[in-house]
Amino acid sequence: MLDRFNRKINYLRISVTDRCNLRCVYCMPDKGVKLLRHEEILSFEEISQVVKTGISLGIDKVRLTGGEPLVRKEITELVYMLSKIRGIKDFAMTTNGTFLEKFAQPLADAGLQRINISLDTLKPEIYKKITRCGDITNVFKGIEAANKAELLPIKINCVVKHSSIEEDAQQVAEFCKKNNLQVRFIHEMNLEKGNFSKVEGGDGGDCKICNRLRLTADGKIKPCLFNNLEFDIKDLGIEEAYKRAIESKPESGTINNYNKFSNIGG
Ligand code: SAM
Ligand code: SF4
Repeated sequence: MLDRFNRKINYLRISVTDRCNLRCVYCMPDKGVKLLRHEEILSFEEISQVVKTGISLGIDKVRLTGGEPLVRKEITELVYMLSKIRGIKDFAMTTNGTFLEKFAQPLADAGLQRINISLDTLKPEIYKKITRCGDITNVFKGIEAANKAELLPIKINCVVKHSSIEEDAQQVAEFCKKNNLQVRFIHEMNLEKGNFSKVEGGDGGDCKICNRLRLTADGKIKPCLFNNLEFDIKDLGIEEAYKRAIESKPESGTINNYNKFSNIGG
């Protein structure tokens, strides 16, 4: 479907959970956030239904995100269910990678095509500081497993404070070059202040070509990351929520003080 600004909307990013095993400083407060109740979170059947309806309206690209998608129970079952739906051309996931060693092969077997892994530094102590609790060796093991499982191309999401010439970012770039990984630099954003910019090496953050809708873990379709607009599939029905989201998709982002990265998935 085309929106009011002639952008073809074909990409749905699905937050499958608002929970996460890490506490990245730019994403979540130290003590975490107020979590959704389990009964508020969409079931796999509901998510599948949203994807099917999306396909009938022109969605052909789907990404699972979170929170951390790999902490959602039976996530490979959801991947399997979605991979069986005809019409998805591109099926990916964004993960912090810490559980990928165990999940990469089962995800590939279930039909996931490719994966983005978040990694901002190569230094274990800086990684621990950024994530407040993470062990970087798990991410390296996860990348290796993703390679083995052929979840390709593997893209690395690297958040930078100001610029990709920062030392940590440069080291991540070098690591990616050596290991045949694609790197994308995401400038640290602030939803409430409306700070965002184009992703280096990716399409995100460029309003003119934005083809995205987002589904929150509790069933709201959001037309723009940097806007409070959201349409609840439980109140409106799935098709109507999509239509309203597409009709009202803003020309460009402003601010979002309803969501956190951790519940909308970036
Ligand atoms: N937990 C998964 C992960 O970290 O990859 C998926 C969800 S996370 C919210 C998705 C992406 O958003 C990650 O690459 C993360 O680095 C990025 N992100 C989180 N907070 C951000 C912020 N304030 N500015 C820019 N990117 C951010
Ligand atoms: Fe968790 Fe991802 Fe947010 Fe880090 S960026 S706290 S891994 S959801």
